[in-house]
Amino acid sequence: MSTTADARLADSLERLGTETAFSVLARAGELERAGASVIHLEIGEPDFDTPQHVRDAAWRAIEAGRTHYCPPAGIPELREVAAEYLARSRGLEIPPGRVLVGTGAKPFLFFGILALANPGDEIVYPDPGFPIYESAIRFAGATPVPIALREERDFAFDLDELAAKLGPRTKLVILNSPHNPTGGVLAAHEIAGAAELIAQTGAWVLSDEVYAQMVYEGSFASIAGEPGMLERTILLDGCSKTFAMTGWRCGFAAVPEPLVDPLVRFFTNSTSCVPPFVQFGAIAALEGPMDEPAAMMDEFRRRRTLIVDGLRSLPGVSCRVPAGAFYAFPNVAGVPLPAPVLASRLLDEAGVALLAGTAFGEVGRENLRVSYANSQANLAEAIERMRGFIGGL
Ligand code: PLP
Repeated sequence: MSTTADARLADSLERLGTETAFSVLARAGELERAGASVIHLEIGEPDFDTPQHVRDAAWRAIEAGRTHYCPPAGIPELREVAAEYLARSRGLEIPPGRVLVGTGAKPFLFFGILALANPGDEIVYPDPGFPIYESAIRFAGATPVPIALREERDFAFDLDELAAKLGPRTKLVILNSPHNPTGGVLAAHEIAGAAELIAQTGAWVLSDEVYAQMVYEGSFASIAGEPGMLERTILLDGCSKTFAMTGWRCGFAAVPEPLVDPLVRFFTNSTSCVPPFVQFGAIAALEGPMDEPAAMMDEFRRRRTLIVDGLRSLPGVSCRVPAGAFYAFPNVAGVPLPAPVLASRLLDEAGVALLAGTAFGEVGRENLRVSYANSQANLAEAIERMRGFIGGL
């Protein structure tokens, strides 16, 4: 006797969010297959090739037979090199035993939150912010407590507001600088102020530093460098953005000792390990010359000027100069359409794929997120398409 499968899915799925960038990318792909021309400003990945020496190292590892399971925590060689890289770039001392390797930075967000949060715990996270934070918080059954990053403060939080969000139920505070989606960079004094406040609580910190090497103005500061913070911070970085390696899926984090074993167990239960040949590529990236990432940043800097000037020239649009990452977060309150409608009509009617700020939280409701990881020619064309569309409203 055969029966059909029980159609009821897990109730917990109702709490699992998504990342709109991937759905907009899919919709743009559909339009392109139907013959439309689309300029992609929606997805957050460098449009540069992974450096040659990184690709060579991975090939050599494949040829050497490094194609089998390996330790879920990461191969010891990469844990050591990543510990040195994190220490070097932040002026910290980090024992390799506390550095773990995952399939990108994302699993550290998801599993880090699952490892820490009980229902009823509060987790403070940036709004606007990378959508996986809120998704993972809700999935874990914890209470999301957004902290606003406002445009008038160049997308930094207000320390008084942060103080008001912290309390005895705060389990974790998530920081992200340089910041997706705004391109904002927290100043050293803001980081120090946040650390002082957090030190008065029992909260852990998740510092998402995947854009640490992408700062145009000012300098990068990690909260892990503040007194006592390294012991309670998941310091998260990865190869995706810095080395144009988004598809390789390799991230790494320095984690507090009590979190090492739980995170390794999550990896063992899910992905098992990052492919070892990918990890050899990551070693080459972290140890190798930084001239390609530097050249990429020079180009991003030129594009930043082009896109900010272009956006500012559009009727009803204003735009702050982002200090880091490769995103602009223009304000479109002066355009006679709500930002989400504008974003979807720009894709359908003008062939410009970008995201509404609401994909990142309520505070971004008057904004669009523009990823300028595209050629200068395409950025210029996108601005003209937007001008034509907005001008015709
Ligand atoms: N954190 C932030 C703020 C991001 O913007 C992204 C990717 O867009 C990630 C984490 C995930 O990066 P990865 O490719 O290393 O998983």
